[in-house]
Amino acid sequence: MVNPDHPIRTLISEAAIQERVHLLGQQIESDYRGRPLTILAVLTGSLIMLADLVRRIRISHRIALIQASSYRGATTTATTLVINEAFAPDVADRDVLLLDDILDTGRTLAALIRHVRDRGARSVRTAVLLRKLGRQEVPLEPDYCGFTIPDVFVVGYGLDYNDDYRHLPYVGVLGEHQGASGPVSHPRS
Ligand code: 5GP
Ligand code: MG
Repeated sequence: MVNPDHPIRTLISEAAIQERVHLLGQQIESDYRGRPLTILAVLTGSLIMLADLVRRIRISHRIALIQASSYRGATTTATTLVINEAFAPDVADRDVLLLDDILDTGRTLAALIRHVRDRGARSVRTAVLLRKLGRQEVPLEPDYCGFTIPDVFVVGYGLDYNDDYRHLPYVGVLGEHQGASGPVSHPRS
C-alpha cells in the first residue's frame, strides 16, 4: 500500500523501464557472447532489475549477490563501506558485471569495483538502472545505464524508502510538495 502521506509522482513508467531493460539485455548479450559472465547484483535495490534483465540475456551466465552498506563512524564523519559477500561465489577469472540500482555519489560502485578486481576477476564493468545528475563524487562512467535522472529521491523498481516501495513496477519521486514538479508558479505581488 502506498502511504497517502507520501504521494509518489511517476518519473519513469513501467513500460519505459521494460523497454530499456530489454535493450540493455540485448546489448549485454552481444558484448559478452563467448565470455564467462557473472552478473554480481548489489543487494537489495537491484533485485527487481536483475530478475528482468537476466531473462533478456540468452547466453549462459551466472548470477551472484553482494551487499554493501555504508556506516558513519560515531566519532568521525567518514563513512566506511562494509562488504558482505556471503552469496558471492568465486569470481576469479570471470568477466564480472556489477549491477546496482542507482549511481549517486559513486562511492559504492567504486569500492565494489576495487573489491572485485582484488578477487581476481578477469574484467569488471558496471550497469545501473539510474544515474543521478550532479551528485557524483567519484569519477566513474557506468558501462550500461538505463536512465539519467535529476537530483531527486526516487523509489520503486527495487529502490526503497525505509525498506518500503521496492515492489512498485515504476520509478517515482517521493516526498515532493504539491506542485513542486509542475510548472513554476510565480508569486503574486
Ligand atoms: P552511492 O555510493 O553511489 O552514493 O550510493 C548509491 C546507493 O545510494 C544506491 O545503491 C541506493 O541504495 C542509495 N540511493 C542513492 N540515491 C537514492 C535515491 O534517490 N533513492 C533511493 N531509494 N536510494 C538511493
Ligand atoms: Mg543500494
